[in-house]
Amino acid sequence: MEKSDNSQTGPQISVVVPFYNEEANVEELYRRLKKVLDKLKRTYELIFIDDGSTDKTPEILQKIYEKDELVKIIRLRKNFGQTAALQAGFDFAQGEIIISMDGDLQHDPEDIPLFLAKMNEGYDVVSGWRKKRVDNLFLRRIPSLVANRIMKWLSGVEIHDFGTTFKAYKKEVIKKVHLYGELHRFIPALTSRTGVKITEIPIKNVVRQRGKSKYGLSRVRRVFFDLITVKFIISFIDRPLQFFGLIGVIFGSIGFAIAATLTIGFYFFGWSIRENLGNLILSVFLMMMGLQLVMTGLLAEILSRVYFATHKVKIYSVEKILSREKPPAEFWN
Ligand code: UDP
Ligand code: MG
Repeated sequence: MEKSDNSQTGPQISVVVPFYNEEANVEELYRRLKKVLDKLKRTYELIFIDDGSTDKTPEILQKIYEKDELVKIIRLRKNFGQTAALQAGFDFAQGEIIISMDGDLQHDPEDIPLFLAKMNEGYDVVSGWRKKRVDNLFLRRIPSLVANRIMKWLSGVEIHDFGTTFKAYKKEVIKKVHLYGELHRFIPALTSRTGVKITEIPIKNVVRQRGKSKYGLSRVRRVFFDLITVKFIISFIDRPLQFFGLIGVIFGSIGFAIAATLTIGFYFFGWSIRENLGNLILSVFLMMMGLQLVMTGLLAEILSRVYFATHKVKIYSVEKILSREKPPAEFWN
């Protein structure tokens, strides 16, 4: 589809990197990326997103842009967070294969050829797997282990490490994903809905040498709620009524059964209404709950349609773009 019209054709590879106050890392990452990519003999572009940095990151990026025509910079108006920054990069990218990675040197550009080799085998998504993790045990590895297990179980995607951003995607796959919240961690799970082929490769996990991590324990809470969202999206977003409706019908039915029993009891067996007041209230309560839930399901059903119709809404806002080529048309949608 993309190839049939005569719009500009993209490079073979796009590398997307978000930076938030990474002045100590930008230069070196850029240098190492160039070294690896130039050896590949494939066309590529580097898309660097400045997620509202307040240190010297913007100046450094500007300098890199000025001397390298393969570099494109997107500067966001404020700090929108890693997910939004990545989404901006994905929207901008035009490569056939799109690779995302962190800008803090925790991901080694030397691993990129491994991703490409796997993609060549015909996968749609190749996910990095921090097989030997060096991160803090309690703050990082244990919460991450739990989240990954749940994610694997919910999504049925057989990979170990959902959390790392170091991943490669076919353009068609990533262009269909619309991120919000902390959902960048769950892209493989989100794409699994559409039946893409996903695999993983071990990557190096290195300790951050310079600059600070942008996350603390609050990540656990955010990831927890996004897990619920992801489960909902995978299973019910196109049929929320199935979800709410089912619970509603169960509640409603129990309530109705109790009410019916009581009615028969009152009329035919002379049960005392006063003694059964509790049951009566319970049955009315359950039936009301059931009705409410079905109504909620219907509302969600309508909302999800609106969501699908308007999902082009952007979760970020661009301050300026440095690029020698025009961004793809869909970038402005
Ligand atoms: N990042 C970003 N915006 C943010 C937070 C982080 O663009 O609001 C970038 C950050 O500069 C880095 C990557 O996302 O390139 C991963 O962030 P970090 O290293 O803090 O996460 P961790 O490795 O601790 O999970
Ligand atoms: Mg990091």
